[in-house]
Amino acid sequence: MTARVPPPSTTIETEVAIVGAGFGGLCMAIKLLEAGRKNFVILEKAMEVGGTWRDNQYPGAACDVQSHMYSYSFAPKADWSQRYPGWREIQDYILDVTKRYGLRPFIRFGQEVTGAEFLQDEGRWKITTRNGDVILARHWVLASGPLHVPAVPDIPGLKDFKGKIFHSAQWDHSYDLNGKNVASIGTGGSAVQYLPEIAPKVNKLHVFQRTAAWVIPRDMRKYSDFSKKLFAAVPLMRKLHRARLYWTNESRVWPIFNPPLARALQKLATLFIRAQVKDPELARKLTPDYTIGCKRVLISNVYFPTFNRDNVELVTDGIREVREHSIVGKDGVERPVDCIVLGTGFVVDPRVYMKDFKLTGRDGHNLAQDWARAPEAYLGMTVSGYPNLFQLVGPGTALGHNSIIFMIEAQVHYIIQAMKEMEARGAAYVDVKPEVQRAFNADVQKNLKNSVWSTGCQSWYQTADGVNFTIWPWSTWRFWLRTRKVKAEEYEWVSLPTQKTRKAPQKVAA
Ligand SMILES: Cc1cc2nc3c(=O)[nH]c(=O)nc-3n(C[C@H](O)[C@H](O)[C@H](O)COP(=O)(O)OP(=O)(O)OC[C@H]3O[C@@H](n4cnc5c(N)ncnc54)[C@H](O)[C@@H]3O)c2cc1C
Repeated sequence: MTARVPPPSTTIETEVAIVGAGFGGLCMAIKLLEAGRKNFVILEKAMEVGGTWRDNQYPGAACDVQSHMYSYSFAPKADWSQRYPGWREIQDYILDVTKRYGLRPFIRFGQEVTGAEFLQDEGRWKITTRNGDVILARHWVLASGPLHVPAVPDIPGLKDFKGKIFHSAQWDHSYDLNGKNVASIGTGGSAVQYLPEIAPKVNKLHVFQRTAAWVIPRDMRKYSDFSKKLFAAVPLMRKLHRARLYWTNESRVWPIFNPPLARALQKLATLFIRAQVKDPELARKLTPDYTIGCKRVLISNVYFPTFNRDNVELVTDGIREVREHSIVGKDGVERPVDCIVLGTGFVVDPRVYMKDFKLTGRDGHNLAQDWARAPEAYLGMTVSGYPNLFQLVGPGTALGHNSIIFMIEAQVHYIIQAMKEMEARGAAYVDVKPEVQRAFNADVQKNLKNSVWSTGCQSWYQTADGVNFTIWPWSTWRFWLRTRKVKAEEYEWVSLPTQKTRKAPQKVAA
């Protein structure tokens, strides 16, 4: 028998390596091209672009931000079909943008980045992939996404379940749910969307809820043909529409920073539950016990009515164990099930999902150690000790009230500026000053204290120790303002001797 010889690994040299081909990575690529920079590569572990919208194809999967806002400002689509787009329309948009900007030749699919080391003498990164390839890059843009690793709960017996089991982000469409007894674990953003879709098909649906979610009405309107034609013919109308959506979303910041106002809105949200759920006891169980906005607020007109169905059961006592063909609740009841759907969300903490990902910066910096307390960065992008590494949607830049694509565009603008500034200064690398990062994060944490996110709930915005490391705690226009210009004095710009020597690098004046 002949042994299989693995293909030889390759080394690629490039100016910019982008990791991830979702909204973030693709935006970075487009803006590099627009800046006349073609020397870059996108490394994507999957076999298609799209990130979130390639993976999350569960029934009912849709965006909670309006279509005209949840799209690039520079690549408008006049004919969005409805206010809130479904996954397929978003993914089609991403595929179209990828084609329109000619991005495919720059993407290397099936390339999962597994580690990176900053080569200080050379002022560049050595990035390694699972199949052994090496990418040597001056700049590295990590656009690996905030929500892409499915979280699987640690429930006794789950591994031994003999029926069908899948996570919402890995929906098995070949499995026919018709007439099956199904258990759904979790009542977060994805479950709220797929439960109403599957309930009419299945024989029995047991919904295991750990924490109830605040769910408010969704604007279900479709755009008329007239609106679509108008948006196409008069771009100003589309821009005004987008601006209105932007400011409507921004107005949600008031209750976020004014918990008493949030509690007033909560009364309306409570009435919404009571109006939609027939059984008062069931309505009570579906009403959260934390301030609205503390966890992500979800939108749906069809979620609560799902529980009025005779074949749907809400279980709030928790799960004791999973057996080969059933789930035993903490209420002692054994429920036979054919299929378990894990609507259990994603691993958000990068220290958990990057635990096998070795990341070494300058002067022996090690990300696992630097982030021992919680992940943090400056403006969600740069981390002191990791020069020329930029993150998109990094720590402290996720949103609960508006489109993340707005933040991504602002970040990409900033990163390209930093690259240009580095070249103008003849520097080989740029590193944010530790005191700048510290002061910024102290400010973020101070501001979070007065917000609705600090009213006592446990959410995926926080580490296990309760540190909120995900959310941008101000209006998004403030992020936009702060990212207009790179403040040179906040960074250390380091040049290398032209000849490769072991001499210490020279600092360039700020
Ligand atoms: C179900 C769901 C609903 C959502 N709804 C909303 C919403 O309503 N509004 C909103 O603003 N946001 C929402 N989000 C958040 C969403 O992730 C962002 O809006 C947006 O998609 C982020 O884009 P991204 O490019 O940063 O990340 P992603 O879309 O996650 O793309 C990251 C890409 O990086 C790749 N990748 C990851 N690790 C590696 C690696 N090591 N090597 C190579 N490639 C890698 C992934 O395969 C993926 O293609 C939702 C997310 C989910 C999961």
